[in-house]
Amino acid sequence: MLTPETALARILAAVSRRPPSAAERVALPEAAWRTLAEDLPTAEDVPPFAVATMDGYALRAVEARSPGARLPVAFEVFAGPVPKRGLPRGACCRIFTGAVLPEGADAVEQQELVRRRGGAARFERAVTRGQFVRPRGSDLGAGEVALPAGTVLDPPAVALAAKLGRVSLRVRRRPRAVILPTGDELVAPGRRPRPGQIRESNGLALAAAVREAGGEARVLSPARDRAESLARALRTARGGDLLLTVGGVSVGERDLVRRALARAGARLDFWRVAIRPGKPFTFGVWGRMPVFGLPGNPASALVTFEVFVRPALRAMQGLEGDGRLHAWVRLDRDHEKPRDLTVFVRARLGPRTRGPGLPWAEPLRTQKSGDLSSLLGADALVVLPAGRARFRRGEAALARVLRAPSGGGGSHDP
Ligand code: AMP
Ligand code: MG
Repeated sequence: MLTPETALARILAAVSRRPPSAAERVALPEAAWRTLAEDLPTAEDVPPFAVATMDGYALRAVEARSPGARLPVAFEVFAGPVPKRGLPRGACCRIFTGAVLPEGADAVEQQELVRRRGGAARFERAVTRGQFVRPRGSDLGAGEVALPAGTVLDPPAVALAAKLGRVSLRVRRRPRAVILPTGDELVAPGRRPRPGQIRESNGLALAAAVREAGGEARVLSPARDRAESLARALRTARGGDLLLTVGGVSVGERDLVRRALARAGARLDFWRVAIRPGKPFTFGVWGRMPVFGLPGNPASALVTFEVFVRPALRAMQGLEGDGRLHAWVRLDRDHEKPRDLTVFVRARLGPRTRGPGLPWAEPLRTQKSGDLSSLLGADALVVLPAGRARFRRGEAALARVLRAPSGGGGSHDP
């Protein structure tokens, strides 16, 4: 059976043989959290002129080289307009944060350290050249690449694009995932299940995971565990950038998804990976779409998405890795597992002890792959690697952090 590392390497190799997702132009307000598809050069100096960073007085530093210098206040400068004239020699001016420094001034003293008497200001300490001044181009110089292609447009990146006068940006198109739930027992959410039926839920969970990874998702109605139903569903699944099927990849008599995919012309690369949960995971390529056959148990579907689909979705957007923090945590109890499997323990994180040290990983109440409660509220997947069967309380383990700890253990000392 494949190790998860080999399985992921094969997936990424297959995905990288495909052309990268195209670019599209979007208005700046829509560009947040998208991935930049162009280098963003700095068209002008940022800031475009020297500004005061304090409310106070602008002056020539040499004229207040020692404490107690007294200079007449020539005029006032507020943020917004350009000062009408330069600073006369032997004088200072009132200035406010964000205002343009008048010609000749090379320093600002904060008002708390200036004694004002009538038309003159007394500088209580020696002033140094450049203090409380943000020089022109000190943030970014014209001609530099401010943001390289591949940058995820987080709030500061959006601010920078706005500063540079951009109203639209070229960003990578979001990969479109088609999600096909399968199972005779499933009814679409919102329908009333008859006895023996359950509501389909993985489709929406995976759509949320796709969105978190930067993609768009279309969830199809559940297909039945019949060759014809699967074939029909697969015909409507075309046209996306990747296909996720859910369920029907195990060894049951009605687990027909792999056969249906092969019949429809998909080339299946592998089936089964040495992991828990999610062992029956399947991967292949169907025309230009990578196909991921996720097992139907909720934890299996979401863990295999996290480990295999998320990095692939990111690669399709030109992003590296899985975009998660991998951090050391301390096991809060003994664990036993099959030696040949890599086990992903769904856990909460939180230092229950005071002081420094690794956060403790507390497994959720159940680890059963069929139980949604084995995932609800999980902060991390703690990775117990293959090759060992026993792990002891207090040992350190690597965890893939899914989100900041949100209670339970609590991440702050009171
Ligand atoms: P399977 O992988 O098809 O053998 O399904 C494993 C378990 O997951 C079964 O109990 C299914 O009822 C359940 N299951 C499969 N697909 C879904 C789904 N889309 N939503 C909710 N439960 C599912
Ligand atoms: Mg099934």
